[in-house]
Amino acid sequence: MKIIRTKNALRGEIAALKRAGYVIGFVPTMGALHAGHLSLVEHARTFCDKVVVSVFVNPKQFGPNEDYASYPRQEAQDLEKLSSQAVDVAYVPEVQEMFPEHFTTRVHVGGVSEGLDSITRPHFFDGVATIVAKLLLQVMPDVAVFGEKDYQQVKVVKRLVQDLDIPVRVEAAPIVREVDGLAMSSRNVYLNESQRKIAPRIFQVLQDTAEKIKSHPGAVQAQLDWAKAVLKDVGFDVVDYVELREAESLHPLAEWDTNARLFAAAYLGKTRLIDNVAVDVE
Ligand code: AMP
Repeated sequence: MKIIRTKNALRGEIAALKRAGYVIGFVPTMGALHAGHLSLVEHARTFCDKVVVSVFVNPKQFGPNEDYASYPRQEAQDLEKLSSQAVDVAYVPEVQEMFPEHFTTRVHVGGVSEGLDSITRPHFFDGVATIVAKLLLQVMPDVAVFGEKDYQQVKVVKRLVQDLDIPVRVEAAPIVREVDGLAMSSRNVYLNESQRKIAPRIFQVLQDTAEKIKSHPGAVQAQLDWAKAVLKDVGFDVVDYVELREAESLHPLAEWDTNARLFAAAYLGKTRLIDNVAVDVE
């Protein structure tokens, strides 16, 4: 595995791979890698000959009171995991390489970025769109793979790529979970023992709510209110949202009559967990 730290070196390597005729897959990450990230590498491999993974904790997607400084960083372990997964290129740029002193551009994707995560994280999707645009233009992959764990992010990236005519196919891979159902996340290490026991309830509540919506398709709001109350009851400190949205456009749904996605975000202490499940018509 080649470890590359500058965009110039990356461009050279990618050009050589393209000249050799390889199809290139790309998986952007913020590191602290777990099986969810590695599943994206596997997913990329089903379409591609060579896989590039970036590890970069993107300062632009963290708000001023968020966890940028304390976000888990474990480069040596990450590189070991990527190497044992037979990744071809690990791209690990420094912040200065990505955002030099006079950097001022910000990419804003409208529509799908509204609501859900952007309510409590107003900086988040501009930060994501900016870094993803840069990474895609640096790597120029044939296929880029993102996880449905961050479902709204997948939609933002798809819109970005279409609107800016970036020639890449965006693929979404399913959520990888712990045995008790908790969606894997680099932030799960923040949870203490009692919070870790409560955490999987977010997935259970989403599954139960999805069933209730299927049985009462005309009364979605009542089921969402029920879900929020249960999350509070089982020990979540703050519930950001529980919402049902149309699966592609992410338009809010007051009635369930089409393929939909049910989303939740809630805090255990300072740790914010997100999860989502499909609520598809048969
Ligand atoms: P992150 O390092 O958290 O920015 O995530 C990098 C990529 O991995 C994103 O496309 C995430 O959606 C994806 N990802 C993170 N956790 C999971 C998971 N549990 N299952 C599937 N994909 C995931």
